[in-house]
Amino acid sequence: MTVIETEEQRELRAAVAKLAQKYNYRDYVQAKGRNHEPLTELWDEAGKLGFLGVNLPEEYGGGGAGIYELALVQEELAAQGAGLLLVVVSPAICGTIIAKYGTDAQKDRWLPRLADGSTKMVFGITEPDAGSNSHQITTTARRDGDEWILNGRKVFISGVDQAEAVLIVGRTEDAKTGKLQPALFIVPTDTPNFVAQPMEMDIISPDNQFLLFMDDVRLPADALVGSENAALMQLFAGLNPERILGAAMAVGMARYALDRAVAYANERTVWKTPIGAHQGIAHPLAQIKIETELAKLMMQKAAVLYDSGDEMGAAEAANMAKYAAAEAAIKALDQAIQTHGGSGLTKEHGLASMLAGARIGRVAPVSREMVLNFVAQHSLGLPKSY
Ligand SMILES: Cc1cc2nc3c(=O)[nH]c(=O)nc-3n(C[C@H](O)[C@H](O)[C@H](O)COP(=O)(O)OP(=O)(O)OC[C@H]3O[C@@H](n4cnc5c(N)ncnc54)[C@H](O)[C@@H]3O)c2cc1C
Repeated sequence: MTVIETEEQRELRAAVAKLAQKYNYRDYVQAKGRNHEPLTELWDEAGKLGFLGVNLPEEYGGGGAGIYELALVQEELAAQGAGLLLVVVSPAICGTIIAKYGTDAQKDRWLPRLADGSTKMVFGITEPDAGSNSHQITTTARRDGDEWILNGRKVFISGVDQAEAVLIVGRTEDAKTGKLQPALFIVPTDTPNFVAQPMEMDIISPDNQFLLFMDDVRLPADALVGSENAALMQLFAGLNPERILGAAMAVGMARYALDRAVAYANERTVWKTPIGAHQGIAHPLAQIKIETELAKLMMQKAAVLYDSGDEMGAAEAANMAKYAAAEAAIKALDQAIQTHGGSGLTKEHGLASMLAGARIGRVAPVSREMVLNFVAQHSLGLPKSY
């Protein structure tokens, strides 16, 4: 395994950073976030430049690279405060699952447009009564002739208003045993009886969350992704990229906060020297630098393992990376605010509003506690309490 980047990867980093500087947090993202408006201009330009589909197969218009490269794109965007939440779901989860498990018709229909960013597909697994316990989801599809009839509820689904379809995690009934088994369905957002209701969140974010109501939603047979028995593998294929991309967004945010804090600590003088000369300011920033680099290294390890086909190895690393990166981002923003004194709480600097955004990473896509459960059980072999 190597994390020494190739010239191509370094060039990609530089190109994404250049675009992100144009759409940086203070000049572009913050105002959009306050109005809950999507970052359409940035998304479209990133799509045209090939950044959003960098992980998707070349034959479908993608870059033919891996999750490593998509994570690199997300990290560089977030390092300017311009991380794209829907990159986590559209090309990373949905694109990966369709590329790996979709039928040829599904690949033809979705991949070229997911790759160039001209369409978005979001992802719905969380349910009001299931939450962290995805074994308990009750969204169910039953066959009716050639069609599927889908019933269920979803909660906190990001970006439904921007999306052409939602990849819904549901269950089907085994015709012989009657046992419910997971299944993934592509549900266009304009399907009759599919209702999306915006949720009132208390975070400043360009992307909104939605409650989904699906009451007898009729879907054609080919709405089912791949084959009926492959859903667990499909889910697994999508969840590692989700965690790696979540980690990338958090690593980028931590870098952004650290850059702001260091710039201010170098320039602000209230005694004889800049405040960065005081160890009370310098040491916490040095610690955050170390923790951010460590989180990034684990994210790179997860991406390299995933791209090399070691999904089990990637699962442990992706969980650890998501945990470490979210904690680093939250700490970095909190310390950036502290470094700025009163200015850290002003609208002009926008650090307090970004802190709430970074806080999402401790809860979603998988909570800090569920990552600790995973590590306790799978890495340490400890018993399960639930
Ligand atoms: C901004 C945002 C965007 C989101 N976007 C999406 C999306 O696009 N698609 C989607 O499907 N979902 C999305 N989610 C949902 C997210 O994945 C869930 O919120 C998350 O998985 C936690 O589930 P929950 O909110 O039901 O919390 P719960 O499961 O109710 O958990 C509540 C608390 O209890 C803890 N807990 C639960 N079980 C255990 C246990 N066994 N041991 C220890 N602690 C436990 C949790 O860690 C948490 O702290 C989003 C959430 C947010 C906030």
